[in-house]
Amino acid sequence: MKKKLFKDYFFTSRLGILLLILLILPMLIYSVYQVFQRNQDEQIMQDIYNRQLNTILFSVNQYSWNQFQAWESQFFKNLAERDLLNIPDDLQSLTHHLKMQYPSLAGLFIQKNGDPQFYFSHEMQQHSENQNKTVLADILVSKKSKINFFNQNSATGYWRPVIVNWPLIENNSLSLFIFPLNKDERFNKSDLGGLFLNTNEFILTDMQQQLQSLFSENTNLMMGIYSKEPMNAIYKTDDALNPPFDRSETLWLLPNHQLVIKTTGSSLSDLARQRVRLNLMFLFAVNLLIISGIIIFLYNIKQQVKLAQMKTDFVANVSHELRTPLSLIRMYAETLEMGRIKDPKKTKSYYQTIIYESQRLSQLINNILDFSRIESNRKRYQFQRTPIRPIIEEVLDMYNYQFQKCNVDIVIDFVNDVPDLFLDKDAVIQVMINLIDNAIKFSPETKSLQLRIVQTNQEVEVSLQDQGMGIPVAEQKLIFNKFYRASDTLVHDTKGSGLGLALVKHIMDIHKGQVLVESQPGKGSCFKLIFPVPAYPEESDIKK
Ligand code: ADP
Repeated sequence: MKKKLFKDYFFTSRLGILLLILLILPMLIYSVYQVFQRNQDEQIMQDIYNRQLNTILFSVNQYSWNQFQAWESQFFKNLAERDLLNIPDDLQSLTHHLKMQYPSLAGLFIQKNGDPQFYFSHEMQQHSENQNKTVLADILVSKKSKINFFNQNSATGYWRPVIVNWPLIENNSLSLFIFPLNKDERFNKSDLGGLFLNTNEFILTDMQQQLQSLFSENTNLMMGIYSKEPMNAIYKTDDALNPPFDRSETLWLLPNHQLVIKTTGSSLSDLARQRVRLNLMFLFAVNLLIISGIIIFLYNIKQQVKLAQMKTDFVANVSHELRTPLSLIRMYAETLEMGRIKDPKKTKSYYQTIIYESQRLSQLINNILDFSRIESNRKRYQFQRTPIRPIIEEVLDMYNYQFQKCNVDIVIDFVNDVPDLFLDKDAVIQVMINLIDNAIKFSPETKSLQLRIVQTNQEVEVSLQDQGMGIPVAEQKLIFNKFYRASDTLVHDTKGSGLGLALVKHIMDIHKGQVLVESQPGKGSCFKLIFPVPAYPEESDIKK
């Protein structure tokens, strides 16, 4: 038995280890890897987001640059159409013409042979010609090297304007694009032209359109254009767009301004962190589920193996239990049949043994049959109002011979006026037989029993106390399980099916009663049957 249990334990624990290696270990390794990988994952996701944002910012910048190229090509096209004999008039008509097409352009200048000529549309004409010339001269001096560089490279196709703020107008709101004029053959290499741009108007018309169309495609993003010094929002797609931004980039066309972008709701890094955390939580939940699944699975297997083991033990025990009384009955019956025994005392003892052994056989078979009926829900009971004392006395009569034979010392303590109960007589007999059988079986030395019937409140209590081997506390609940037999070696040397107490419990449940055990290993056990007293009408009431 022990060897087998060890084998079962070994089997389930080996299965557990196998499942652990096959399922949990890879998942755990993966989870731990994911935890360490977390920062890297967050970084990767952040990079992906940043790249996406960069692409959007790039497209906005590209758009503004295209705008400049459109102005510039219209400028040269219109310049070519004019004969430049009267430059101020030509500039005025050129400005009007360009402004018609591009309302945010505010004016222009041309410097031919070192003499700058301006034309501002009326809203920009706040300063005198001389003031404007002085400021332009200062700018051209300060940006000389850059202008020269762009001038020299324009021949190779690298054509860039020098971009400055027009300092006479406050708040960076007028930008000037200075570029060489030699695309037109009538101008020298050192001749310069310039376009003035009303910055805020450009942002609030052309750029706004572009940002709005991008915003409608990416509703989770907010975009805007801020002036750099001081940091002021010129336009934003959403009022909630405030620093800190997820990304910002200088506008190529207006270097004093920056394009800013931010995700709505949580910030980008928050989003990346949340996503990674969510993945990790999901992973741990899956791990937990798998581990609990495996634990339940292993527990079930263990239970099944235990039950299978108990059934096997049961078959072995029962076969032995059947064989012993049968061979005894046969042996005594054959001896008696030969007629050789002359001593009447001996003959009587042989007959008594045959009766006792066949009683044991019936008891065993009754237990098995009842158990199988209970399991298949076929067991029927016949309840009737009956006193309990005669039933118990009947059982004691049955045991009379065995008590003598096994030197059982029994003390009986019945109170007289116990009320009638509502019982199935045969079932209660079976309960008592099982309890008395156990009390004798598991009292290897002192076979001393005490049987009591008492009434407590609305209950009748039948208790059987022995001074046998007792039951360890841990096993006191288990003994009422089917096939359960305590782990003590003495129990295993004592024959039994492990069904007796399961039947007792079932029968007591059917009687709406209870079976309780109080036991101390080495000192003995006391089994108590508690029957409820039914509410019968008083006899005097019936007569009336
Ligand atoms: P069986 O007696 O056939 O083994 P039972 O279901 O009647 O099966 O009892 C289950 C187990 O409870 C026994 O194997 C034994 O370990 C324990 N047991 C029952 N009655 C007693 C008792 N009076 N004293 C000690 N142990 C007992």
